[in-house]
Amino acid sequence: MVSESQMNEFTAWAKRRGVIFPSSEIYGGLGSSYDYGPVGVEMKNRLKTSWWRSMVHERQDVVGLDSAIILNPAVWQASGHLDNFSDLMVEDLKTHKRYRVEDLDDPTKSPEGNPVGEAKQFNVMFKTFVGPVEDDASTAYLRPETCQGIFIDFKQILETSRQRVPFGIAQIGKSFRNEITPGNLTFRTREFEQMEMEFFVREEEANKWFDYWVEARFQWYLDLGIRKENLRLFKHPKAKLAHYSKGTTDIEYKFPWGWGELEGIANRGNFDLVQHQKNSGKDLSVFDEETREKFVPWVIEPAGGVDRALLAILLDAWKFFQKGRKEDGEPETVLEVAPTLAAYDAAVLPLVKKPELLKMSQKLVASLRAAGKHVFYDESGSIGRRYRRMDEIGTPICYTVDFESLDDKKVTARDRDSMKQTRVTL
Ligand code: ATP
Repeated sequence: MVSESQMNEFTAWAKRRGVIFPSSEIYGGLGSSYDYGPVGVEMKNRLKTSWWRSMVHERQDVVGLDSAIILNPAVWQASGHLDNFSDLMVEDLKTHKRYRVEDLDDPTKSPEGNPVGEAKQFNVMFKTFVGPVEDDASTAYLRPETCQGIFIDFKQILETSRQRVPFGIAQIGKSFRNEITPGNLTFRTREFEQMEMEFFVREEEANKWFDYWVEARFQWYLDLGIRKENLRLFKHPKAKLAHYSKGTTDIEYKFPWGWGELEGIANRGNFDLVQHQKNSGKDLSVFDEETREKFVPWVIEPAGGVDRALLAILLDAWKFFQKGRKEDGEPETVLEVAPTLAAYDAAVLPLVKKPELLKMSQKLVASLRAAGKHVFYDESGSIGRRYRRMDEIGTPICYTVDFESLDDKKVTARDRDSMKQTRVTL
């Protein structure tokens, strides 16, 4: 686990090992914008797959969607984002730096202790233009959340997927917010990925489903191996609820800089569907065959962030041993991440660069790949160094092919966490 004083070390590791590093760096970067390298992208994909499996594939009552990022701006008018999706912002009167009021201990002073100006609402949606003319009529927005795409497609999906309330629609995709103060690596960025699911229910059953999803989502983070003591639930006080919410509980992680939200589970009532029904003039209600009633369903929404979840997983799994793991060696980093999230399932390492060993190693690589495994192959450098490199990116197992392997058709399997070595048959 990473402590606050280890954040620089962790950030340097993330860059050195191709996990996460600043974007556009050869041009000096772009604010808090990050890229995921060869290791990071694999882990991120596995995290998204895990979410999709638990939310869609393992259930009867949830289907998936991939909606557009740029929607008709009428969507954002109806949802309230054009009027309400803003942060209260103040400006330091000396440095002219801007801050979110929510982040300040004393709303009359900047973190530098200078007086601040009058608080103003700042809408965090990114604007753009659709088509070749740049005017008010062509103004559009990059979506600040993925869920509105779900609401506007709700009826279409209901009619074509053979689902009935209660049921859900899940989506993973990029969202954009012109955050006033991005920071803490990928915790708060202006371009990020969300995993959201809208679960449509009858009003009478909303509380029951809300409790169900809070518990299910909390369990998902535990199943990914995050330590329980670093997770907690935070119930929003009524006065601080978002404009659409009838109740929200966040799942928070104990980041090195303090507790922070990973996911919010909200009871959105039927606010969004009613708004879209009003503004589009289309009927978004459902008809219950049994009770012969027509109603606009309520919605329970678990909304999580891919980047924040991955950051929490990395911080939780990262271990640094100043004197090595055997207490007598060089500094060592081990990423004790769940094998299902590791960038590579296994590494294959010929002990030395001899043709017979390379040939046998390549055969092993091919058979592991045929079995659907993602394999790292590395044939040069000392075997100790190669193990270390794999420990650093969390590869759970290394298979070493040596001269004995040629005779007994066995390889050494070395475990990342215990460093135990056992001979296993090919
Ligand atoms: P915060 O209060 O931290 O700004 P939020 O409550 O506005 O977050 P939601 O609108 O509930 O966030 O979005 C759902 C999830 O999307 C969050 O729990 C978080 O994981 C992720 N998320 C939101 N904004 C960002 C961001 N700027 N950078 C990275 N992830 C984000």
